[in-house]
Amino acid sequence: MAKEELECSFCGRKKAETNLLIAGLDAHICDRCIEQAHGIVLEESKQDSTEELTSELKLRKPKAIKSFLDEYVIGQDQTKKVMSVAVYNHYKRLLQPKSNDDIEIQKSNIIMAGQTGTGKTLVAKTIARMLNVPLAIVDATVLTEAGYVGEDVETILTKLLAAADYNVEKAEHGIVFIDEIDKIARKSDNPSITRDVSGEGVQQALLKLLEGTTVNVPPKGGRKHPDQKFIEVNTENILFIAGGAFDGIEKNISKRLNMQAVGYGASKLGESVDKENILQYIIPKDLKDFGLIPEIIGRLPVLTYMDPLDKETLRLILTEPKNAIIKQYQKLFEMDHIDFQITDGALNFIVEKALEYKLGARGLRSLCEAILTDAMFDMPESDETELKVTKSYAEKALERTSLRKLKAVS
Ligand code: ADP
Repeated sequence: MAKEELECSFCGRKKAETNLLIAGLDAHICDRCIEQAHGIVLEESKQDSTEELTSELKLRKPKAIKSFLDEYVIGQDQTKKVMSVAVYNHYKRLLQPKSNDDIEIQKSNIIMAGQTGTGKTLVAKTIARMLNVPLAIVDATVLTEAGYVGEDVETILTKLLAAADYNVEKAEHGIVFIDEIDKIARKSDNPSITRDVSGEGVQQALLKLLEGTTVNVPPKGGRKHPDQKFIEVNTENILFIAGGAFDGIEKNISKRLNMQAVGYGASKLGESVDKENILQYIIPKDLKDFGLIPEIIGRLPVLTYMDPLDKETLRLILTEPKNAIIKQYQKLFEMDHIDFQITDGALNFIVEKALEYKLGARGLRSLCEAILTDAMFDMPESDETELKVTKSYAEKALERTSLRKLKAVS
């Protein structure tokens, strides 16, 4: 065969019409067809790995999700239930093959309202652990509109990518927990007076991510690395969970409840309102009145609340969860062959102090640490093999630490 007659066996282009023609055993292929074939290979392998990934997702039914949450999170039954359904639906949406019936299941992004330290982050962490998907925890207060000092909204995805070991597909199925969403509420009802850097602008920027879009993500984040290549991340299948304390929102809720009561028979509603836990009556409108823009509220359609932690719940948090604080100390002491016991009296004392100092569940840990520091310092090098913490032991140990602190101040 004469050289000029060679042609691509796939598209039929003559050698002269190609940049490169590669010869095989019995056929030839041109550069264009190679590229096209390469594209198909990439597409296929992407589909395969997405399928692999979704089948890897440990999807459980809502009741099973709730039982898993029960092992780690005490109380918060309503939130656990709502979250179980939302997570189940979210992942059902991902696992569903593309159909032609025009019914597009929308994302079940979630917003949780509740005081700090009531377990919002813990719920998000537990769900990510159960599903075995990467989780990024971000603080909304550090986010700013592009062009302002602070972190661009895209850095949320930088964090998620890092949590997914830079596996884009994994990141695209991950969970983002946005803490302190209430802090980016619009500060005034009239946003046009001044440019509201930390409020509405950030909400607008966030909106795009929540809606589902492809974002060019700087893998190292920030503007300090201008040369880095961007990674494309699609947020369509990322589950966003937002949390916030919404301090003062109870006032709005009460007001709304009372207003309704005037119209619909005050006494009836008045009796049934649980004044200790007003947050349970929260509705999307309350979020709007607080300063979240309606579009954001619309993109976080699952709204739930956290119960305040009472004495009984705090007491259970100390000992019941799978990785309860007391269990952790037991393990730490055990590593030094020390049998660690703590009496009910001591546990109740810790709970009372946590309530007294208004420290919530976070305080339980600091109190335990303060009470046990001396023992953890001295015992590993002693011959003692037992530590029994009673109420009086705890009282004395705490007194010593607070006395020391007082001295340090004076
Ligand atoms: P939030 O995000 O609401 O501020 P976190 O989830 O960070 O609160 O909780 C703070 C600490 O208290 C964590 O160590 C968490 O383990 C513990 N904690 C809070 N609420 C609960 C709960 N309901 N069950 C078990 N532990 C809890």
